[in-house]
Amino acid sequence: MEQGLMLKVFDSRMKKVYRMELEEYVKYAVASAMPADFPMEALKSQAVCCRTIAVRRMRIFGGSGCTRYPEYDVCTDPGHCQGFSDKLGEIPESIKKAVEETSGLILTYNGNPVEALYHDTCGGYTEDSENVLGNKISYLRKVECGFCSDSPHYVTRRIITIKNLKKKLGVNFDSATGKEDIKGIFEEIKTTGSGRIKRIKVGDREFSGEEIKELLSINSNKLNWKVVAIALEIMGKGHGLGMCQYGARGMALKGQDFANILKHYFTGTEVEKIKMPSEDNPLIFKKIAVDPGKGSEDDLCGPMGLSEGFINYEMARVLREILSKEGAKVILTRNNNEKKDLMERIRVINDFDPDLFISLQQNFLKPDREGYVEIFYLPGDKEGKRLAECIKEAFISNLKVQAVSYEADLFLLRECKCPGVMIFTCNLNCPREEKRISEEKYRKNVAQTIFSGIILYYYGLTLK
Ligand SMILES: [Zn+2]
Ligand SMILES: [Zn+2]
Repeated sequence: MEQGLMLKVFDSRMKKVYRMELEEYVKYAVASAMPADFPMEALKSQAVCCRTIAVRRMRIFGGSGCTRYPEYDVCTDPGHCQGFSDKLGEIPESIKKAVEETSGLILTYNGNPVEALYHDTCGGYTEDSENVLGNKISYLRKVECGFCSDSPHYVTRRIITIKNLKKKLGVNFDSATGKEDIKGIFEEIKTTGSGRIKRIKVGDREFSGEEIKELLSINSNKLNWKVVAIALEIMGKGHGLGMCQYGARGMALKGQDFANILKHYFTGTEVEKIKMPSEDNPLIFKKIAVDPGKGSEDDLCGPMGLSEGFINYEMARVLREILSKEGAKVILTRNNNEKKDLMERIRVINDFDPDLFISLQQNFLKPDREGYVEIFYLPGDKEGKRLAECIKEAFISNLKVQAVSYEADLFLLRECKCPGVMIFTCNLNCPREEKRISEEKYRKNVAQTIFSGIILYYYGLTLK
């Protein structure tokens, strides 16, 4: 994989920042997550999980960074992003090897990196995501494990006193004192007039009071009992989501490789090489919303009757095609030439949570004003401004038209939660412009030009 995929790690305990290569980071994450003497295939499956969690957060892959410390890609809090071994420079050989042998591999679902959660021991079955996180995630399903019974945490016992139980849970109850039955333990008690035990059934055997006194070496058979402690039997350790680490160990010992281990615990996933943005797919991991302005009903038309709604939609459709082909995920705020009011279109954009949006509109100015493309961005939106300038540059150099960019406090620009621009591509009142934009070929050129502007915005490439 390519060098220089840098990660900004925030050490939430030491309040320190590390800048390191992704593959280097993965070694420290694995060292913190799994004992170095686990079998190689288990360590490799752990390496893929740790790498996937990091990649899913990295902005270059469309992630949003660590949500608690937004300046950084990941934090080192195991309860938030992922644990990190702070023994810098001390990575065990087995872990180095596991990371190197899986270099660049991540776990994906429908082509996207998954939230590759892991836990110590599931205790027999992993858990459905909705029972822990409150929402259903297709690849975090309950699966039978059956590989973690060697774990020291498969079943653990903890004796908790009734006093402590009451205190910790903030409850109160009568923990019984006297000669009541404890089902299955003390039953069918018969006492003498003075309160001594005459006969008692313990488990499945009957004893006399004298026998009880002898066998338990107690001073008298005049006695009461009381529940003072309870032994909890705990199955597994951790949240139970995703990969069971002791299960991974068990599978590895049975000869399964890391890919099989991962696919067992993460339903419907694939192990894939990280896809980097390249000349073939420069917009991979980018999400872009395209808004084809107004729809047909309250539509305005040029002097020849060309409708704005139609032009906006046709251009948006072509732009979507181009952007998708270059790897972006694209949503249109309306389909076909339907009418959809502004609020609804804004909602589509915000629900999609894109990296940027492009709203396409046409101007209706004086008929003799021609040759201007106008691009608007919200005052104070630095990214929107840069996007507007890049698209302006593209119009000037590609289409040889005049293009201007302005800031404007427009409702759509203000209400959308991501950077974006509104582009007025022609003056539909001008007959010459109306004719030009009625041509499919010209509209395609406009869409291609906007795409060039977006590439310029992301990569600063020099355009011809
Ligand atoms: Zn975090
Ligand atoms: Zn398990």
